[in-house]
Amino acid sequence: MTNQMKALVKAKPEEGLWMETVPVPEIGRRDVLIKVRKSAICGTDVHIWKWDEWSRKTVPVPLVTGHEFMGTIVDRGAAVHGLEIGQRVSAEGHLVCGQCRNCRAGRGQHCRNTRGVGVNHPGTFAEYVALPQENIVPIPEDISDEIAAIFDPFGNAVHTALSFDLVGEDVLVTGAGPIGIMGALVAQQAGARKVVITDINPVRLQLAADMGVHYTVNAAERTLRDVMAEIGMTEGFDVGLEMSGAPPAFRDMIDTLNNGGKMAVLGIAPVDFAVDWNQVIFKMLHIKGIYGREMYETWYKMIALVQGGLDVTPLITHRLPIDQFREGFAAMIDGSAGKVVLDWE
Ligand code: NAD
Ligand code: ZN
Repeated sequence: MTNQMKALVKAKPEEGLWMETVPVPEIGRRDVLIKVRKSAICGTDVHIWKWDEWSRKTVPVPLVTGHEFMGTIVDRGAAVHGLEIGQRVSAEGHLVCGQCRNCRAGRGQHCRNTRGVGVNHPGTFAEYVALPQENIVPIPEDISDEIAAIFDPFGNAVHTALSFDLVGEDVLVTGAGPIGIMGALVAQQAGARKVVITDINPVRLQLAADMGVHYTVNAAERTLRDVMAEIGMTEGFDVGLEMSGAPPAFRDMIDTLNNGGKMAVLGIAPVDFAVDWNQVIFKMLHIKGIYGREMYETWYKMIALVQGGLDVTPLITHRLPIDQFREGFAAMIDGSAGKVVLDWE
């Protein structure tokens, strides 16, 4: 193995990412070195590409970007146990401190000192990545490489969807991006009665319908109240999964949840926005923020959901060699892509 590798680097504080040659990362005693086989592009990577306000505040330059991936273990530190060279793996992209109250209680997802792979820690858009053994998730043989490569966003969907009991409930999903579509499919598989997904992009809604989401609604054309009446809903949604980050969608959700309704919020709004808190109070809504995946219960559940028959493969609309990364980012930026998977081999 050489000690140089190719990687997609945020090399300059301006729009774009650049393929550069950088040193292969060194591993510590408790780390493994993974040869990346497939990467996927996340909305976060698009923010970093565009160099928006959030990325300017968050991402150090230069940085190897990317966090959705799968690969094969090629080296391991002396203290690593239970992981073998040649094993297919993905990994949790939140690096937690292990010292804070929540970490010590086994709630890594609530760590106060989280660092993000490909956000403020060297990422996985690279031929090789070094990660702590705790973060590694072995991939069972009956799960494909490309599904393993999108486990990170699939985990966002699973974490959000499984936040509340869904059996027999009516569920509203706002935002038919990749995560919203997966969230709706998880809700259906988990036993929800009616699952309604909204978006304002017809391409996204068509993808949701093609993948089997029961009810798709263009929020720019129809009101949820009309749709509810049409599909026989009399009271309101029991559970809402906010996966758009769009203030109008958030407000629609508060408005159409039943009293005592529950809302899990994953979508990140670009700017502060107003909501009618009196509705939250008088309807006695439960609102839960979601960041990342539960460590590691979400990983267990998502593997189990796939093995139980949930197929999210049709969400992958673009499969490209890594050198065509620009094409992949363009499809993400113009909204025509579901998931874009890039191949390093
Ligand atoms: P995405 O941008 O692909 O999907 C968002 C969708 O919302 C788009 O299809 C967009 O057309 C739609 N939308 C816009 N306005 C709408 C409206 N008024 N009503 C309904 N839909 C509307 O994003 P994604 O990758 O699927 O991720 C979903 C959201 O979750 C994003 O906001 C993303 O930033 C956020 N996210 C959060 C976490 C976390 O840990 N909290 C992790 C990953 C992504
Ligand atoms: Zn911690």
